[in-house]
Amino acid sequence: MRRRIATSGRVRQILRERSAAVSTVLFLCFAFNPSYAATSYTISLASPEQHLIKVQILLPEGPAQRELQLPVWNALYQIRDFAQYVNWVRAKDLAGHALPVHALDKSRWQIANAQGGGVVDYQIFVDSAGPFNAELNSHHAFLNLAQILMYPVDARNGSMVVRFSQIPSGWRVATPLTSTPDGEFGAENYDRLVDSPVEIGMFKESDFDEAGAHFRVIVDAESGDFDMKQIDATLQKIVAAATSWMNDRPFDRYMFLYHFPRGPSGGGMEHAYSTAIALNADLLAKSPESLASVTSHEFFHLWNVKRIRPQTLEPVDYTKENYTRALWFSEGCTSTAADIIQLRSGLVEERRFELQLASGIGELEGRPAHLTQSAEESSLDAWLEGHASYQRAERSISYYNKGELLGIVLDLAVREASHGHASLREVFQWMNQNYAKQGKFFPDSEGVREAAEAVSHSDLKWFFEKYVAGTEEIPWNDFFRSVGLRLIRQTYQVADAGFVPSRNSDGSVTVAAVTAGSAAERAGLRVGDTVLEINSNATKREFVRDLAGLHVGDTITVKIRNRGGAEVELKWKVGSREESVYELKDLENITAEQRTRRAAWLKGEAE
Ligand SMILES: [Zn+2]
Repeated sequence: MRRRIATSGRVRQILRERSAAVSTVLFLCFAFNPSYAATSYTISLASPEQHLIKVQILLPEGPAQRELQLPVWNALYQIRDFAQYVNWVRAKDLAGHALPVHALDKSRWQIANAQGGGVVDYQIFVDSAGPFNAELNSHHAFLNLAQILMYPVDARNGSMVVRFSQIPSGWRVATPLTSTPDGEFGAENYDRLVDSPVEIGMFKESDFDEAGAHFRVIVDAESGDFDMKQIDATLQKIVAAATSWMNDRPFDRYMFLYHFPRGPSGGGMEHAYSTAIALNADLLAKSPESLASVTSHEFFHLWNVKRIRPQTLEPVDYTKENYTRALWFSEGCTSTAADIIQLRSGLVEERRFELQLASGIGELEGRPAHLTQSAEESSLDAWLEGHASYQRAERSISYYNKGELLGIVLDLAVREASHGHASLREVFQWMNQNYAKQGKFFPDSEGVREAAEAVSHSDLKWFFEKYVAGTEEIPWNDFFRSVGLRLIRQTYQVADAGFVPSRNSDGSVTVAAVTAGSAAERAGLRVGDTVLEINSNATKREFVRDLAGLHVGDTITVKIRNRGGAEVELKWKVGSREESVYELKDLENITAEQRTRRAAWLKGEAE
């Protein structure tokens, strides 16, 4: 699905006139398109030290009663209630007379008597780092616009104009939004607007052309912490490999936006025409391949999830959870595609790919919940991920982890069913042609199955029933045999203290889980107890490492405050549990057919 700004001429016109009387602007809006008047935002970076942004929304003429909604979620599949950061909201008419503002719920405000247009002002606190958040400080601003911009409920699909004011001297603005000669920015609707991250600061910049498109690279980091030439070279390889694999390039320009902070950070956020990625500077120095890995994933998202999009995520409802069973595909298989992109571009070698694959299988098999929670259910439950209890291995699997593995075995299943004539590449291309390019959304797992069956000319109901909707054990070696590989599992005993601690946001440590039948349980340890000391050491940052250093048979002394409020010292002997390590090895006597299939598989191509 390609969205272009069809109204840029009109937006430019509006912007040119905006310095004149507001009423003239509104007249022009209506003159150009009576059904859609632009909503106009001014974002003022007045107080970087206080992390305060002021937003002014200019509402065009329209109904007397307007509702303004601030999203409760965006970027992460988590309810984050951005309204918690709003300090106050005020409104006035175009003559400057106050208009009544009435809060309808925690994230929605109603403005009355606004038939002649209105001006809404609010102040919002933004101090969260990372590609999913909004941040303003004396160093820079990074804005996830959905976190700071309310939308008029009756004009969400209308065109939007944004300008930034009170920008500290020397700072520049970088965003994939279309800019006007006046330095303002436009989008054809709110969804497109908030799909566009904004960096404002003294960033470093580079650009290149590849696959017929223009790419800008924006980096906010200490200059000694990265090598722009090396980053550009990596990005060119990723772009070339991904566009050739998809045989498509649904954009003319694209922006890579990086932060390499010294502190703990990580993550990437996909957008239709850009990606924003944070990577710890030490990690980047130690393993430069981490940049290729996260970038390949986020870049491929420009197809999978941004354009090849599950029906259940559309239209986006910013007021509540949007449930989808398709994240195993939209996230997990994006990682599978990222693996292929890195293999095709030579950024990852076969051996490392197989090591990572085996380790991913170990991660899934190591969670008891892989037998109780399906990939679809894990997708649906994404909204629970913020809760520590949900993260327990008995409760949940990761749709990233299982989805990536499903992408691998679906690729192998399609190859087998089509005698090597089709692969995951054809599945993605089919979905791109039949959904994305037609402006349609796909019906979650059913849509993936439809594509896989169409390109392999076979019935794959069994695959989707057992492994996508179901929780049957994946018979790995049945799949890997066709490429001459087998999975080996080795088990060994490791020390186990019998409980899982969890650190709370206030720094305290509580018991999140106690192994049933363990010595810890017999000693009296219970879920919810607060851990004060382990072996006479206060539970500082290193306590997880201290626990990892225990040996089978050691005595562990844990001072706790139980849920009754009493401080108690518990003692028990450290037990053990079985852990497995997985490895992929060549089959003995690999056939020529298996070798051919393996070579095609590692290139991501049909035979
Ligand atoms: Zn992703």
